[in-house]
Amino acid sequence: MKVDFLNLKRLNEQYEDELKQACARVIESGWYILGAETEKFEQEFASYCGVKHCIGVANGLDALTLTLKAWRELGKVNKGDEVIVPGNTYIASVLAVTEADLVPVFVEPDEVTHNICPKAIEGAISEKTKVILPVHLYGQLADMPAIMALASKYQLLVLEDSAQSHGAELDGKKSGAWGNASGFSFYPGKNLGALGDGGAVTTDDDELAETLRALRNYGSHIKYQNLYQGLNSRLDEIQSAMLSVKLKYLPAQTAARQELAVFYQREINNPHITLPKVAEPQSHVWHLFVVRTSSRDALVEHLTECGVQTQVHYPIAPHKQQAYSELNHLCLPLTEQLQDEVLSLPMSPYLSEQERSKVVDAINSFKVKE
Ligand SMILES: *Cc1c(COP(=O)(O)O)cnc(C)c1O
Repeated sequence: MKVDFLNLKRLNEQYEDELKQACARVIESGWYILGAETEKFEQEFASYCGVKHCIGVANGLDALTLTLKAWRELGKVNKGDEVIVPGNTYIASVLAVTEADLVPVFVEPDEVTHNICPKAIEGAISEKTKVILPVHLYGQLADMPAIMALASKYQLLVLEDSAQSHGAELDGKKSGAWGNASGFSFYPGKNLGALGDGGAVTTDDDELAETLRALRNYGSHIKYQNLYQGLNSRLDEIQSAMLSVKLKYLPAQTAARQELAVFYQREINNPHITLPKVAEPQSHVWHLFVVRTSSRDALVEHLTECGVQTQVHYPIAPHKQQAYSELNHLCLPLTEQLQDEVLSLPMSPYLSEQERSKVVDAINSFKVKE
């Protein structure tokens, strides 16, 4: 028996009939872009997150990019302004910043949570800083009370990257409801995943929501009247219908992920492995269960031999990518250490008893050769 990192077929099989019915409904409607299904899902997801507006877009990267572009159209940020981002994030968070002609300023993570460190954010604020872009990495909310306090002290906007944290909650407030706006991804492997690409922005800001609705649609509210140089970046009717089905099951799936995380935390006891830490159980929705070890290559080899599939999130930090060669000289010691030490274990709401035990046994039998 092999344990998959994440088996999407098994995941979507759980509601196969409902998905097929929803798909048939859209086919029969004859309406495929910006219609009733997208409006319905937008309302459901806004209400789930506890915000006024949800604007469906084509993917998570566009959700972040379009929000920054909307703030530029609204005169809240200008070309060349600085955006504070975590050094150890997925590259999409950074691509959004540069795509909007803004400047990313990297900040190191907190040693324990691996989320962006508020103290380091404060140290990075300059005259040009306009936005903080915290990423709720691996599904755990960043320290939002501290980040919102900094934003108010220095008059900055906050754009959450919620691509990994659907439903994560602190003090009764969900991911997507903390910042001025938040970008979500519905990539199939995310906690709420479509059957293709998808994304959304959530916000309480009426003016921003209005601007985003135009920007995702060529910059137009009324056909052939273009207010902005927009994009074509919309959430399809079919994907909206799939997401409406899957959103109903998200709370149960989140609980199953949290239960698996508790099991891993309790059963893994290998001195060479550092387990992830959580302050508040509800603030982590376990998109990924990431352990840390200084012998990662050996651990991957051992787990592969045992039939346990793993992944690395992420092996090369954005500032070390060829795409950002002008930033390669930057030195972010903790970010660079993490990229060499982190390893993501199988995490899914549908891992069997046998599979989860196999993962634990494989990890606990790992020995470091002297
Ligand atoms: C997945 C992801 C994105 C991008 O979402 P896509 O829908 O794949 O474009 C952005 N940020 C983070 C942290 C992600 O994990």
